[in-house]
Amino acid sequence: MTTRGLAVEAVTPAASGHLALKKDDVVKILSLHSSGYYMCEGGRAGNKGWVKKGSLTLAKSFIPTANYAAGSDDELSLTSGIRVFGFTTEEEWWFGCNQSGKQGYFPGTFVDSPEPSPTIPKSPPLPSPIPTASATVGNINGNKKPPPPLPKKNAPPIPPAASNRTKPTTSHFENSNPMQESRNMAKGKGNVAVSMPSAPAPASSSPPPSSGSTRNFKGTFPLQFLLWANNMALASAAWMVIFGIFTTLWSDPKHYGCEIGGVAIHKNYLAPLNETATAVICNPNEDDLPDLNGDFGIGLISIFAGIGIYAFEGFGVDDRMWGCYYPSDSFSYTNKVSIRGLVYILLSFPLFAKFPSALSASFLFFTGVVCLYGVHRGEAGDNGRAARAKRKAQAAARGGGGNKGGNKPQGRGGEAGSWSPIKYYRKLVDENKLAIYVWVFLYFFSNALTFFYTLSIWVGSVKTMEQGLLDGTLDTLCDDDTCALNKVIVTKGGISSWGPYAKACGMCLNFNCSLIVYPVVKILLRRLNNIGVSFNNNRTANPTVFAKFFAKPVTRLIPLSKNIDFHKLIAKVMGAFAAGHTIFHFFNYRSASETTLTVFKKWGWGGTAFFTGSLICFSMFFIFTAASDTVRRAHYEIFFSAHHWFVVYFACLLMHGPIYWKWAFVPLSLYIIERVMQERRGDRPYYVNKVEWIDPVMAIQFRPVYKQDFVFKEGQYLYLNCPYINKNEWHPFTISSASSDLATGPRIALETGEEVREVPRPAGMSKSDKWHKYCPVGQDYTKLKPSQLLDKHETGYNDYVSVHIKVHGLDSKVAKSWTRKLKEYFELMNPKRTFPFYLTHRDDRGDIIVGRQRGPDGQQILRVDGPHSAPAEHYANYGTVMLIGAGIGLTPCASILTSMLRYKWKKNYQPEILHFYWMVRQSDIDSFQWLIHLLTSLSHGLKSSREQKQIGPQYYCEINIYITGVSKDPVPVPALRTPENRFQGETTAPSFLASSLYGAMLNPSASSKSQVEVQNGQGSRSAKNRIQDIWIWNGRPDWDKIFKQNKRQRQHESIGVCFCGAPVIGKDLLKNCNKHSSKEEDVVFDLMKENF
Ligand SMILES: Cc1cc2nc3c(=O)[nH]c(=O)nc-3n(C[C@H](O)[C@H](O)[C@H](O)COP(=O)(O)OP(=O)(O)OC[C@H]3O[C@@H](n4cnc5c(N)ncnc54)[C@H](O)[C@@H]3O)c2cc1C
Repeated sequence: MTTRGLAVEAVTPAASGHLALKKDDVVKILSLHSSGYYMCEGGRAGNKGWVKKGSLTLAKSFIPTANYAAGSDDELSLTSGIRVFGFTTEEEWWFGCNQSGKQGYFPGTFVDSPEPSPTIPKSPPLPSPIPTASATVGNINGNKKPPPPLPKKNAPPIPPAASNRTKPTTSHFENSNPMQESRNMAKGKGNVAVSMPSAPAPASSSPPPSSGSTRNFKGTFPLQFLLWANNMALASAAWMVIFGIFTTLWSDPKHYGCEIGGVAIHKNYLAPLNETATAVICNPNEDDLPDLNGDFGIGLISIFAGIGIYAFEGFGVDDRMWGCYYPSDSFSYTNKVSIRGLVYILLSFPLFAKFPSALSASFLFFTGVVCLYGVHRGEAGDNGRAARAKRKAQAAARGGGGNKGGNKPQGRGGEAGSWSPIKYYRKLVDENKLAIYVWVFLYFFSNALTFFYTLSIWVGSVKTMEQGLLDGTLDTLCDDDTCALNKVIVTKGGISSWGPYAKACGMCLNFNCSLIVYPVVKILLRRLNNIGVSFNNNRTANPTVFAKFFAKPVTRLIPLSKNIDFHKLIAKVMGAFAAGHTIFHFFNYRSASETTLTVFKKWGWGGTAFFTGSLICFSMFFIFTAASDTVRRAHYEIFFSAHHWFVVYFACLLMHGPIYWKWAFVPLSLYIIERVMQERRGDRPYYVNKVEWIDPVMAIQFRPVYKQDFVFKEGQYLYLNCPYINKNEWHPFTISSASSDLATGPRIALETGEEVREVPRPAGMSKSDKWHKYCPVGQDYTKLKPSQLLDKHETGYNDYVSVHIKVHGLDSKVAKSWTRKLKEYFELMNPKRTFPFYLTHRDDRGDIIVGRQRGPDGQQILRVDGPHSAPAEHYANYGTVMLIGAGIGLTPCASILTSMLRYKWKKNYQPEILHFYWMVRQSDIDSFQWLIHLLTSLSHGLKSSREQKQIGPQYYCEINIYITGVSKDPVPVPALRTPENRFQGETTAPSFLASSLYGAMLNPSASSKSQVEVQNGQGSRSAKNRIQDIWIWNGRPDWDKIFKQNKRQRQHESIGVCFCGAPVIGKDLLKNCNKHSSKEEDVVFDLMKENF
């Protein structure tokens, strides 16, 4: 295989025999010379020539596992099995080229893992003389030498300067090959000038890459805090402009002059002009402009600095995005000091001088601090922005829109030209989107209603106030609060027309700031999720209007699974209203500062409104800037910690908004109850029973000391906390065991935790002799002496809940991620580091019991908060379910399968038909040995239950395993790491053992393209890729065909599709659910999707 290289910069040929390349040219790499030059073919002219090693990014090569049709001009089409090359990657997309050199993007999900890097052949002796170097080359002393003479025919391509060197000191010589050097010396080519080929030229002759084009991004950390700093800088800049405008405006407050819109107020209030004036007098000639703490100059600085920072952070030169451009060879990185951070901090100081600009100055100051911190800890990178920006620009230039997934999901009734409201309505119903649209509409409608209703009330008040001033009807001759306010209105002017807008925004904030809490109150979600569950069984069994209407009414009418999306939507709307509220108040304050302050006081705020308002803005600044997906994915802790500013936010809001407490009482109380319950749930005692490690997945089994503490449904998730690592850090994981595993777990050896099976009574033993012996499942009891068997008291039941955790950050030297720290904690408790690792304790009588509650530090090993609702838990509402899992997203599928096959079918629960689709790369099969064991045991259990008539014929489970990235050559099948389950002594013989399934998976024999044909064909029962009801396929599933087949063979009207895994697959499934759902054919595919 010949690999490819991508020019990272334009390459000018330093000598003849060198290739000229433009940036992003692709070349074939034919060989590598010891001096660090590649012999390449390609470039613009398609010639052969030398290119310096550092000028090329080497490609990784991939074999596509499925065909992919390019969705836009800048994408590459893939053909299954035909190799493509990838240079750079971001978000599951590779930028690369195909074999003919066409460049473009392709989806990483359609290809195998990269092939091992090929060994590039060493450059052979040159086949023909290479033209003389045209460049003047220097020796190690920097002296100029004349161009070297022509090489001898077939002479190896020795770098020109090599002949002169005595010490390999220059960077060029560092690359030279000592073997080659000694051969040259032996041939008399040592210290004397010899004839040598012109190619390749010494490094000194080709210009070093300019620092501007370097892409050296390997830092101590990837961008994390600096991504946050970028968001902070953009937000600070925007507010610097806004507050800068107010700093200038406030330097020139509006003059009241005892007039409203040019008309003098009532004569009663104008005493010097009129003897009938009342006690309160407005004097239009008095120059009493208030000092609003504005300053024209500072305002201008703020505005221009804001624009500058926004431009710098938000844009870039040459697809670079300066805001996130941190090469690791820059001055900042090498010296661990952020120039940008220092500039921001210095720039903030003058802005602190005035109130409006001081607010944005504090934003800028903290941005600078975060910049300094990020650079100090050694973050480097550009977060893939350059590539993304380039791709977007290319897509925009070609009008492609950058549709990654190729075809967009097409719902029924969506054909161009045939749109009608009824069709559209039905499409929404079919796609289960109607509830979402209705809720979003209701939400915006409520906001609009609140806004305009409040606005109309306040506009009315301002008008009444103005009318009072003009009529002279404002009562100022009394002592109550209203009169006090009226006196200020008469002398200083009324609330301006901006005021009502500020109030309308404020009222919408009351509404949104209370609503935002509901979608994250898990106790509420769980309760809503469960309403009407019992009616649901009617839905399929008895499809009457009543049954249909009452089947899960809440989940069908409220899109509960979109809770976080709704939370985010409300946050955005809140941000907009908060900005509006601030801006309108600032305008109003300029026109009527003293009256505004008096109104604030009247409402009981004292002078705190500005202070609490500022703190609210401050909290929002931290929360919003850290809540972006980019920051959350890069470093969850930033998102998590910054989000906790919500405590300050709500505390200040309660003081700031006079009636906010009425709005907030219910949601905040619910939230507080939720947190208290979480703490209390977290304090419940749990035993950790067993930890299993198969790189990179750690399986943990634990159990509550009191069973009622943890009652869950399959598909749900929980939060784990390990106080040894951090008392406040909770991580979500889906439960991978069945709820009944907690009630009737397997019998295990107490000493080791190993699962045991009862040994049958030996033939011929008298019935009067006692016999209760057990043997570990990994051993063959026929080969053990009776004394080696376990007695009943040496065994016990292991009831458990399990989670399977993918451990992150295994490559880094020190443990940074929580999952890795947890693994190391278990290793600490298990110095032998042998897995599975069973934890045990002794009870009061000194007997060994499996499970340990406290770690060496005396704290609980694990705290558990849960269970919590998740989309997959609704699988039980369907007669037929398609369970689809890939990667660690399999955990809910494992839980559901176990529950149905092992327990619930025996009790006649639905779903009756289960299709399980598991996608796994050949190279990852090893880390899923736990699932191979589980599937083997479930299959055997199912067979045995059928034979014993415990499970009826209506129940059916089909398992399809898709192996991707399969190597062409057969793969050796090693022994399984965990011993086989043995089934001796049972009446039902197993159809297969885990090792045979493992072997079949490692070497899949049938292509997934033929799945439907094979499964529907004559010989399907004896197909060689079938093991009991498990089918093993080589390649990716063809969803279109599978959905069609399931539709054709369906026995139930609605089919639940549970998926957990990569969003790209989720999109594909959504497309197919929409495409194959059909009211006419009475079938609905309901997608229940979760992304980790
Ligand atoms: C509902 C749900 C169910 C999940 N189920 C599983 C499962 O069964 N098995 C499994 O291996 N993983 C599961 N995950 C993902 C798992 O929570 C994260 O991989 C884990 O928290 C990573 O933490 P870390 O510090 O080791 O990794 P890091 O390297 O710090 O982060 C890796 C990724 O995990 C995210 N992450 C980090 N901390 C958290 C957190 N406290 N909460 C949410 N996301 C976080 C980060 O944003 C990042 O994208 C699930 C996630 C969710 C939301």
